[in-house]
Amino acid sequence: MAKHPVPKRKSSKTRTKRRYSTWESGELKRLTNKSKTVACPKCKQPRLPHTACSVCGYYRGRVVIDLVAKDSKKVQKVKA
Ligand SMILES: [Zn+2]
Repeated sequence: MAKHPVPKRKSSKTRTKRRYSTWESGELKRLTNKSKTVACPKCKQPRLPHTACSVCGYYRGRVVIDLVAKDSKKVQKVKA
């Protein structure tokens, strides 16, 4: 006897194809949602929704990422 779960019946072509088609449509929807971007109100560059803009560092009308400080830190690291 088999020690692992064994399917009682062979799954039909229709059943397999139907399962795959529903999975495929859902996956396509997920992929399109992932690549959705919105224009930044400050610099009009495309950015991901609900995230701070990587170009100007703004989110909801104020600076959340100090890009100037980041750049100066990078320069310091290179010098040291
Ligand atoms: Zn921006």
